[in-house]
Amino acid sequence: MSKEIREKTVKELAEDLKNKRLTAEEITQAYIDAIEAQDGTLNAYLTKTTEDALKKAREFDQQDKVPDNILEAIPYALKDNIVTENIRTTAASKILENFIPPYNATVYEKLDNQGGILLGKLNMDEFAMGSSTENSAFENTKNPWDITRVPGGSSGGSAVAVASGMAPFALGSDTGGSIRQPAAYTGLVGVKPTYGLVSRYGLIAFASSLDQIGTFTHTVEDAAIVLDAIAGHDKKDSTSFNAPKKDYSAKLNESLEGVKIAVSKDFLGEGLQREIRDSYEEALKIYQDLGAEIVEVDFSLLDSALAAYYMIASAEASSNLARYDGVRYGVRADDYNGLVDMYVKTRTAGFGDEVKRRIMLGTYALSSGYYDAYYKKAMQVRTLVIDEYNKIFDQADVLLTPTTATTAFKFGERLDNPLDMYLSDLYTIPANIGGLPALSMPGGFDDNGLPIGLQLTGPALSEPELFKIANAYQKVTGYENQRAKSV
Ligand code: GLN
Repeated sequence: MSKEIREKTVKELAEDLKNKRLTAEEITQAYIDAIEAQDGTLNAYLTKTTEDALKKAREFDQQDKVPDNILEAIPYALKDNIVTENIRTTAASKILENFIPPYNATVYEKLDNQGGILLGKLNMDEFAMGSSTENSAFENTKNPWDITRVPGGSSGGSAVAVASGMAPFALGSDTGGSIRQPAAYTGLVGVKPTYGLVSRYGLIAFASSLDQIGTFTHTVEDAAIVLDAIAGHDKKDSTSFNAPKKDYSAKLNESLEGVKIAVSKDFLGEGLQREIRDSYEEALKIYQDLGAEIVEVDFSLLDSALAAYYMIASAEASSNLARYDGVRYGVRADDYNGLVDMYVKTRTAGFGDEVKRRIMLGTYALSSGYYDAYYKKAMQVRTLVIDEYNKIFDQADVLLTPTTATTAFKFGERLDNPLDMYLSDLYTIPANIGGLPALSMPGGFDDNGLPIGLQLTGPALSEPELFKIANAYQKVTGYENQRAKSV
């Protein structure tokens, strides 16, 4: 039986379009149908642009041409912290509930210029703070593998849109794991590129030294295709690399002979779910069979990286979120008595609990008298984490770890205890601290049938090697071919 349209990969859709087996309208309509059938239950989308999407698809078909590039006429969706001109962008916050951006994020501009078809904007934790998407001011996004469970976060909407066939690919942002962790929970490939590889212009800032835009796809091959479309220097983002782009698909099918894979017991401690450990060990065997060499390394700073992250991320967030003052953006409180009262009432009503917690923590850590003890200390730890990575990559090409210690948890399970929630990102945070590329790939299923994720981290700008190593595993296991049942 042939695959349904919405089960196809980006690569397959592009080939069907090119060979005229499918029209752009048929493809776009299939995703719109999937959204109509499922999103009432799953709540991945905050804003749909499906009418414009159909229009753009029909325009493409009328031209009766071969696509100019691989993403032309392919639908996709964006996390709702990526600004889109004239399309509501909320960062899942009340304070931006009716915000219509006057400009485009560079990544959107690039996809749009390449002919991609935007289906809509996706739910997330408010301002990308969280690990379950439960911090959205608007709705709970459900995991299509088990709707009593969270999809992970903060890019939960992006993960669910792709995992449930409501978009063939999506973009998200990853400050401490927000692409890789939800990708792991929903059985997808999630890529956080090297810091600076993809422009952050038009990404609503959370923690600017950690934030990075990346991809959600079913396959590694698709991740390489989408990264190719969004990476590259942008003069509008001063932290963007000014170096020629690599060919991200170039090494996909190269042999793993001689590749060195680092493993560390520090990621296999208490709290790691049994099935995830099993799948990790199975992966090591697969890699050895493929000709890779396993190298044992230390990652002694895992816990310290988590602590440093919550200092640095909160400090930067407190500064970035100062701009929501009821004057320049979004919502303003109705009744107030003078300027200060207006600020207080606007921010009290506009921000959710987690965002307030971060602003308080960050402001405290940056205040005089505490700066040296907290923020400066955290920055010193950051340097040590980078040193630790450098040592690892002197001995090995990549580091293989689980993406998360558990599979998707139930709604409410970690909401009352912020520290539990913060621990959800223990394994993903260090890559952001180091600015390194990391991806999560489907690594099988637990006893409840929930997806498991395995993570590969590499040195800066090693995306082609990461894709090669991940793709080799996909070709052996085929886990990426399993789809969540429709709801
Ligand atoms: N869960 C982490 C946090 O809450 C990471 C979020 C993210 O990567 N955006 O900060």
